[in-house]
Amino acid sequence: MENMEMKICQSCAMPLESPDLYGTNADGSKNEDYCNYCFKDGSFTSDETMEQMIETCVPFVSKGNPWPGEETARKAMLEIFPNLKRWKK
Ligand SMILES: [Zn+2]
Repeated sequence: MENMEMKICQSCAMPLESPDLYGTNADGSKNEDYCNYCFKDGSFTSDETMEQMIETCVPFVSKGNPWPGEETARKAMLEIFPNLKRWKK
């Protein structure tokens, strides 16, 4: 049932709800692992650490959707992010 799971960006955890949001490979094809904010033309758009990425995301995800506050958002992301492909050691 793996296909039923919602895809999320393996860098910033943003839900990839439509193919328009997929990143792009160097050859112009879609990269379904990452969103187009994180991954463009075959490389990551910014060279940041996982912690920096989380801080960048906090203002966007803590307005009640999906998380109701900055602390909750940060805590949730600290659990999710280390499992994402980009940050997995
Ligand atoms: Zn992303």
